[in-house]
Amino acid sequence: DVLARMDEVEGEVGAYLTQTRETALREAASADEKIARGEQIAFLEGIPGAIKDNICTKGVKTTCASKILENFVPPYDATVMEKIAAEHPVILGKLNMDEFAMGGSTENSAYQKTHNPWNLDCVPGGSSGGSAAAVAAGTAIWALGSDTGGSIRQPASFCGIVGMKPTYGRVSRYGLVAYASSLDQIGPVTRDVTDCAHVLNVIAGHDVMDSTSSTAPVPDYTKALTEEVKGLKIGLPKEYFVKGMDADVEKAIRKAIADFEAMGAEVTEITLPHTDYAISTYYLIAPAEAATNLERYDGVSYGARVDGADIVEMMTKTRSEKFGEEVKRRIMIGNYALSAGYYDAYYLKALKVRTLVQQDFTDAFKKVDVIMAPTAPTPAFKIGEMVSDPLKMYLQDICTVPLNLAGLPGISVPCGYSAKGMPIGLQIIGKALAEETILRAAYAYE
Ligand code: GLN
Repeated sequence: DVLARMDEVEGEVGAYLTQTRETALREAASADEKIARGEQIAFLEGIPGAIKDNICTKGVKTTCASKILENFVPPYDATVMEKIAAEHPVILGKLNMDEFAMGGSTENSAYQKTHNPWNLDCVPGGSSGGSAAAVAAGTAIWALGSDTGGSIRQPASFCGIVGMKPTYGRVSRYGLVAYASSLDQIGPVTRDVTDCAHVLNVIAGHDVMDSTSSTAPVPDYTKALTEEVKGLKIGLPKEYFVKGMDADVEKAIRKAIADFEAMGAEVTEITLPHTDYAISTYYLIAPAEAATNLERYDGVSYGARVDGADIVEMMTKTRSEKFGEEVKRRIMIGNYALSAGYYDAYYLKALKVRTLVQQDFTDAFKKVDVIMAPTAPTPAFKIGEMVSDPLKMYLQDICTVPLNLAGLPGISVPCGYSAKGMPIGLQIIGKALAEETILRAAYAYE
């Protein structure tokens, strides 16, 4: 069972920041009793899952893998947790991540490294690296992650599992600790596409507590799981097959596309001409929003406090000592981009380019039903290899951030292995609220 698996491998993988074994055992026992009584149970009932540590869980520590929230125990549940609780699953605990979801390898956690279950010397990806590693290692059957610029899809790709970023607004962000509010979205991290559809069924929907959540009705996503891709129009964006892309990745993606053609899909090359600017745009908008969102950690309202002679010294010490390097870097970039004199040149310009990136997708989706591309330009890299070079790490996000800028849904499904045996992910991108289409394509392929 999953707890035995946890005892066996969690020491090496390090996916969990907090384990909630006692309540998990109680939840499991109650599901067992219901089954024994022959009662109808919900899909997730009794199924062990775990939650990224930036999603608020009532009574259970939620640290965002940051020292500034080391003792933060939320007095309320995120909306997704309320929805999930109605299904009575077994919650095993909270999962490691890059601090405040800033990073692509989970190495920015203030607490521990998480190792890729396929090769313990490699990163699991990030920022939802704990979520992906737990599902891949079998220490959770399903997990929730968050995706601001690829943080669900890229770790899913690195760990050989399925991860979906739903359309912006499809899932309530209430109770998700904010990184970049116009980009953040919670989504499922699962072993296969069927589980992904089930978890999405549970978490999707309008929420009065999140004014950006969509009022569009939620379909039954499992109904989309047919194998029908005949005539599906697939676009291959030439800009996503970038220079510097790993040869094994390119081979695996081309092979997957050929498989879709063999199933009767129609493949055409398309262009998303502003892709080159997506990284720079994202790394202005995300830090600008982060700088604003992270102002609340002032040592006064909540979170950790380091004492000082006066309030200014207290705040300075708290923020200097409790935020990690990457978080501070983002706060500085963000405040710079927003400051008087630079606002027009950087932040406002970035917003305009964001519109151009969105327009690229609108134009492309006039011709195709889905867009396919790699999830990441490389398979999982070695622990320590990139963390000292933030720019190189940012460039990893080339295939994932454009969707967040445009608010579109995307799923990563396993599509083969590198020569060294590391998993590779195929990314399937859909129109806004077209989760059913990308699930159908993913299901047909897996
Ligand atoms: N790697 C990106 C970043 O560091 C994406 C992170 C995310 O999606 N949360 O911002």
